[in-house]
Amino acid sequence: MRWENLTAESDGNPSGNAALFGADAVITRTIDTPEFRGITFHEIRARTIVNRVPGASRMPFEWTVNPYRGCSHACVYCFARKTHSYLDLDTGLGFDSQIVVKVNAPDLLRRQLGSRRWQGEHIAMGTNVDCYQRAEGRYRLMPGIIAALRDHANPFSILTKGTLILRDLDLLKEAAAVTEVGISVSVGFTDHELWRTVEPGTPAPERRLDVVRALSGHGIDCGVLMAPVIPFLGDEPSQLRATVRAIAASGATSVTPLVLHLRPGAREWFMSWLEHHHPHLVRRYERLYAEGAYAPRWYQRRITRQVHELAEEYGIGPTRPGMPRRLPAPAPEPDVAAPTQLTLL
Ligand code: SF4
Repeated sequence: MRWENLTAESDGNPSGNAALFGADAVITRTIDTPEFRGITFHEIRARTIVNRVPGASRMPFEWTVNPYRGCSHACVYCFARKTHSYLDLDTGLGFDSQIVVKVNAPDLLRRQLGSRRWQGEHIAMGTNVDCYQRAEGRYRLMPGIIAALRDHANPFSILTKGTLILRDLDLLKEAAAVTEVGISVSVGFTDHELWRTVEPGTPAPERRLDVVRALSGHGIDCGVLMAPVIPFLGDEPSQLRATVRAIAASGATSVTPLVLHLRPGAREWFMSWLEHHHPHLVRRYERLYAEGAYAPRWYQRRITRQVHELAEEYGIGPTRPGMPRRLPAPAPEPDVAAPTQLTLL
C-alpha cells in the first residue's frame, strides 16, 4: 500500500501520499485487532465527507456520504471493489479485509451541513460500500451522522445489508419526524447455499428481512432492493417467487429488482469465484456478458417483469429501478464507481 507510512504529521506535504486518498485525507493509524481477526482498519481523518456523484452517473441522487471504504460483507460481485485500487489496495481479499475508516465523518458532516453553501439536498448512504458493515459495530460513526442529518432536517436515504441499522432505530425515528428518510435493504435472493458462498460476510437474507419488519413495525417505511438477481444461480422462477414472497411477508413497501452487473474490478473476482464454484457456467456468463458490464436488455426486462408480476400477486407496490415511490432510491451500493470529492467548506 503506497500510503501506509503517511501520518498526520505529513499532512500538507504536497508531494506526500495524501494524493492517493483523493488528495483528501491523512492516515492516522492502522489497527489489526483480535476482535476482528483478519481485518485491518485504516483510520483516517478525511477532509471532505459529502461527495458529488459524477454527472454522467446513472444514479438518481447527487450527493453521497461514505464513512468507510472496503467492505467486510465480502460479496463476490461487489462493484465497489475497483475503488480499492485507487488506494493501491487489493480489490479481491484486500477489499474484504482492509477497511478504511473515516473516523471524523460525523463531525465533518455536521460542519459541512452547516455551511452556507450547502442547500440541504438529499444525501444517499450505502451507495459505495455498506455503512452498517461490521466495522460500524466498533466505530459507531452512523449515530453521529444520522444525528447531524436530523439536526439539520436534511433528507437522506440508507441502503444496507447490515442488521446493525436497528441499533440506530431511535435516531432514525427522530430523523423521520423532521425530514424525509428512505431506508432500503438489499436482498437479491433467499437461497442459503448461494448466500453462503456469494455474500459470505453478510447477515442471512431472513435476518435482513427482519430489519425490514422491525423498521416497518416502528412506522419507518422500508423498501427492498432485490439485488443482485444472479443469472443461472438465482433466477429460476421458483427462486424469484420464494424471494418476493419473503419480501412481501416482511412488510416491505416496495421491491426493486436489479440484475447482476459485472464491471471491471468486480468482474474478475466474480468470474474466478464462478470458475471455482460453478465452472460449468463460465461459458454461459461469458456469452451473457459479452457486450460489457450489463446483461442484455431482454434478460433484464424478463427478470423485471417476473418480479413485478410476483410483487403484484403478493401485494407489494413494485417500483421501477431508480424510481421508488417515496424518495430517490438508494442505488445498488457499489454502483458509484469513483465519486468526486467536493469540498463544501
Ligand atoms: S455489495 Fe454492498 S454489502 Fe456487499 S461487499 Fe459490496 S458494499 Fe458490502
